Amino acid sequence: MLATQGYVVGIEISGSGTRQSVALADLDGNILYQLRRPLEYIPDTTTLLQLLEAMLGEVLDPEHLRDGRVLRVGVAVGGPVDASQGIVRTLYHAHGWDNFPLQDYLAERLNVPCIIDNNANAAALAEVLYGAGIGERVALYVGLGRGIGGGLIVNGRIYHGVTSTAGEIGHLLVMQNGPKCSCGGYGHLEAIASAQAIVRTMIGRAVEHPATLAAIQRLTEGRAERITVGQIFQLAAEGDEVARCLIDEVLTYLAFALANIVHLVNPGMIILGGSVALVGEPLIAPLRERLRALCLPAASQHLRIVQGKLGPQASLVGAVTLALQDL
Ligand SMILES: [Zn+2]
Repeated sequence: MLATQGYVVGIEISGSGTRQSVALADLDGNILYQLRRPLEYIPDTTTLLQLLEAMLGEVLDPEHLRDGRVLRVGVAVGGPVDASQGIVRTLYHAHGWDNFPLQDYLAERLNVPCIIDNNANAAALAEVLYGAGIGERVALYVGLGRGIGGGLIVNGRIYHGVTSTAGEIGHLLVMQNGPKCSCGGYGHLEAIASAQAIVRTMIGRAVEHPATLAAIQRLTEGRAERITVGQIFQLAAEGDEVARCLIDEVLTYLAFALANIVHLVNPGMIILGGSVALVGEPLIAPLRERLRALCLPAASQHLRIVQGKLGPQASLVGAVTLALQDL
């Protein structure tokens, strides 16, 4: 029998340190209380686990738990996860997390059943159950952030594949002899279309184009290395040739990857999330056009490509959603 009273906890962790979050939610998925503590750098597992425990201590204050106890804990992890075993395979940009049994560790520490998954899978589930994709039978979530992640939701459940690597679309091969990827491979989508890749390429190319470099200096008030993908789109819209060519390339390779996925899984919706998706229509409108041109009409005529609705909250809402779905 489903409990009608109580709470779930959602936790978001990432190795880059910017996204350590804990949320307390009711059984309808409303977040009642949430904490976010960025870390500049995560030296080891102990530091992060101690930080999490301190945050959990605050969130699980008895004052917050008047309607019962915590029934489930969900965790969205910024790295590959073996979801069937509850093991973190790695946490990007952090040390000591390889094959860490986070699910059992937290369940034991908190004395509450726990479920963990990759953050893009969690965000995908959240967008389909509570965000842009409500009611979609087959939906693909694409997280375009510092890296690129993806999650495929089929009939309201995450599709994991055999060893939980389904949806790792950042490593789709889109360019022969292309730039080096975080995984060590070459020409993968993430090495071309992630926020980090776009910014890095833009700065690299601007060095040889004084007008572009001046425009970047103006936009960033002299701190070129801080340029954002949104600002690069802005430069392109203002007619800067270097930015325009770069955006065109990014759209081309992103469209190749998405068209290949569309032909394999025939989704009804592609939901774009992550910092790059905040650009909105200047990114999404040309993608729609390219996909229409690249896909079989029967595959693309009912396909919608939309921006996620949960924004930077997607992974944390996803962690809450994992917990709720596991009840
Ligand atoms: Zn890769």
